[in-house]
Amino acid sequence: MDHILSGIKPTGQLTLGNYIGAIRNFVKVQKEGDTFLFVADLHALTLPIEPETLKNNSRDLVAFYLAAGLDPKTATIFLQSDVPDHSELAIILQNYLYMGELSRMTQFKDKSSKMKEEAIGLGLFAYPVLMAADIVIYDSKRIPVGEDQVQHVELARDLVKRFNNRYGDILIMPKAEMVKVGARIMSLSDPTKKMSKSDPKGDIYLKDDIKVIRKKIMSAVTDMLAKVHYDPVNQPGISNLMTILSSLTGKSFDEIEKEFDGKGYGDFKRAVADVVCEEISKLQARYNEIINSGLVDEVLAEGAKKASVIASATLKRVQKAIGLYHK
Ligand code: ATP
Ligand code: MG
Repeated sequence: MDHILSGIKPTGQLTLGNYIGAIRNFVKVQKEGDTFLFVADLHALTLPIEPETLKNNSRDLVAFYLAAGLDPKTATIFLQSDVPDHSELAIILQNYLYMGELSRMTQFKDKSSKMKEEAIGLGLFAYPVLMAADIVIYDSKRIPVGEDQVQHVELARDLVKRFNNRYGDILIMPKAEMVKVGARIMSLSDPTKKMSKSDPKGDIYLKDDIKVIRKKIMSAVTDMLAKVHYDPVNQPGISNLMTILSSLTGKSFDEIEKEFDGKGYGDFKRAVADVVCEEISKLQARYNEIINSGLVDEVLAEGAKKASVIASATLKRVQKAIGLYHK
């Protein structure tokens, strides 16, 4: 069975983008292989975060994984920091990725562009090294991610090629895969920017009050063209709302265009709000049952045990291959 792996950083409250582009897809693919889903808590340290916030976000993330339908009997759910082998492997793999390629990563450029050079942490720069370790340590072949993470998976592929050329067939080649619709949900207030949990502008949060969600959708930025039409260049706001509607209902863009032909943006937005609010209400109800039940801790303890078995075997294989003595 192929190994499937993905993770989310507990940097902030989960967004509708995380749900549509990542979590819902995890639920869909979990039975298609041996699935490993982790909370990327070490990655969350790449930008300043309060200890209590990091802890609470991590808990929340697991509760939302479960609320969305991830089954801990099927998928191994764990904290990245509970399996220290990731970090050990990253220390080794950092020697096979280069400054030039790391500095070309869009995420690094985006996140560091607003910072003074003296304040840019090494961790932010080296993020793709740890991510490559996260991937290869589980012999992962399939990496379901949103569009913005594809570049990092491509870099992990370069690393695997480089490493295997030198040492033989040691690492498994991973491949990114995205949802067909919704791999890049945009901000509702600036539909030219990706919705991101660390940037609150125009986000819909899975924990938002349902009334607030409706309000955010009703006031989403659109255009003056008065036509529900899929055209991300000229109508980015409307196209983004169509993407959200399409991904949650399975309706095609054509069907949506026909349905709202001759109708105003108010009607269209109300329809999007109805669908999103219904989906998130159900999710919140299950989240509320889970968050204080003790299930999160149980799942994480079990997950760390299962993940460690595979991680330590891969780490040993790598250590042996590169000549670390007595491994
Ligand atoms: P941050 O701002 O901290 O980078 P984020 O919202 O981008 O937060 P990540 O933890 O970086 O979230 O990514 C988790 C997963 O969600 C990844 O697979 C990523 O590609 C996906 N994802 C993030 N934002 C979106 C989005 N707007 N649309 C679709 N998928 C997304
Ligand atoms: Mg991100």
